[in-house]
Amino acid sequence: MITEDRVFIAGAGPVGLTAAASLVRRGIPVSVFEGAPALSRESRASTFHPSSLDMLAELGIADALIATGLVAPRVQYRTREGIIAAFDFSAIADATRHPFRLQSEQHNLTRIIDAKLTGEPDYHIEFDRRIVDAGQDADGVTVTLERRDGAYEERRGRWLIGADGARSEVRKALDVEFEGFTWPERFLVVGTTFDFYAAVPGLDAVSYVADPTQWHFYLQIPGMWRMMFPIPPDVSDATATTRDFARATLATVQPRVHDSDIVHVTLYRVHQRVAKTFRVGRVFLAGDAAHINNPLGGMGMNGGIHDAVNLTERLAQVWRGEAPDADLDRYDRQRRLVTLEYVQKHSIQNKRNLEASDPAEQARFRDELRAIAADPARTRDYLLRISMIASLKRAAELG
Ligand SMILES: Cc1cc2nc3c(=O)[nH]c(=O)nc-3n(C[C@H](O)[C@H](O)[C@H](O)COP(=O)(O)OP(=O)(O)OC[C@H]3O[C@@H](n4cnc5c(N)ncnc54)[C@H](O)[C@@H]3O)c2cc1C
Repeated sequence: MITEDRVFIAGAGPVGLTAAASLVRRGIPVSVFEGAPALSRESRASTFHPSSLDMLAELGIADALIATGLVAPRVQYRTREGIIAAFDFSAIADATRHPFRLQSEQHNLTRIIDAKLTGEPDYHIEFDRRIVDAGQDADGVTVTLERRDGAYEERRGRWLIGADGARSEVRKALDVEFEGFTWPERFLVVGTTFDFYAAVPGLDAVSYVADPTQWHFYLQIPGMWRMMFPIPPDVSDATATTRDFARATLATVQPRVHDSDIVHVTLYRVHQRVAKTFRVGRVFLAGDAAHINNPLGGMGMNGGIHDAVNLTERLAQVWRGEAPDADLDRYDRQRRLVTLEYVQKHSIQNKRNLEASDPAEQARFRDELRAIAADPARTRDYLLRISMIASLKRAAELG
């Protein structure tokens, strides 16, 4: 079998395609194998943090993405009674070229990257090619691809990036453990065109509501609000995904919402898991294949974009012979540690803060938010953390 002088990428999600864009920009040929017949249109991540927008700007992608979305200059925390505290990203305008959150669906990013790369000789994308196995030796990697018609094909390339999502076949082929746990409750996302600005005084486009019986959050994207609620284990999937259930759930927040205001209803199972290693020889794990977390704080896709950029910068140097192979171990060291220290820790803490039922814990969270908002230095540190800029600094310090 001939060895293609290319980097293979499993999965054309936001992480796989960011990796492709970064490698092609550096003159490295890539082949992306996507199991589905086309790019996904699923409604999932919709928050891009300043740190990710800065990286996408380097790849020449940020402006087109910003044009698809809504700029959210603030994030706020509330109770059902009113605002606890709000934070304005202008306080970190000296640390980022994008001092805001961009609210845009992740499928806008994948479409923009694919359109930009299509026609570049170094970019191949092959749909309906599901990686079902992967192996390696000292010189290259071999992948087994399955087509929808049941036919199999083997291909050999130089390196493999497993960006094939939470159920990664690449991770399974490497036999890498996915350590962590699954939350008992599922998360319900209801898309609605209801005008919450008119109904909720002082609401911001990104607003988290702490509540001991049913925390929730408001995320505005162009044309609708996405509302998220926890759903207890005793409600079946079939019940939770009916429009009646969605309307009744929304009614606990806003009784005037009608059936016709509901655009979509989606239920997600939520996990906190991190792969035991992000590198095995010539094969890497990135994005959801390497780590998954609850969406409170919007760190899953953003962390995956950070993985893709960290990895491909190193891989390009090793490809060109400018850095030793051992430099690639720093990808695992840096990204795995910040995934544990930042993404996992804070996404779990964010959930506990919003759902706290103990009055002392509730008071601690609210008092702390108010104290941070009242202190410019703490506000700045806080915004650097939630923008994931602090995690990049920490990764760089690890060497
Ligand atoms: C409700 C919800 C809200 C979220 N909100 C946010 C948010 O605001 N911000 C944020 O940062 N994150 C958020 N996330 C998380 C985010 O959606 C994921 O972290 C992100 O999709 C990960 O991107 P990825 O490219 O790693 O994987 P995916 O998006 O899962 O893409 C994987 C791709 O690989 C393909 N594939 C799968 N298996 C194979 C195979 N064997 N061979 C070839 N191709 C394969 C799939 O078809 C898919 O195209 C949210 C998630 C949910 C569920």
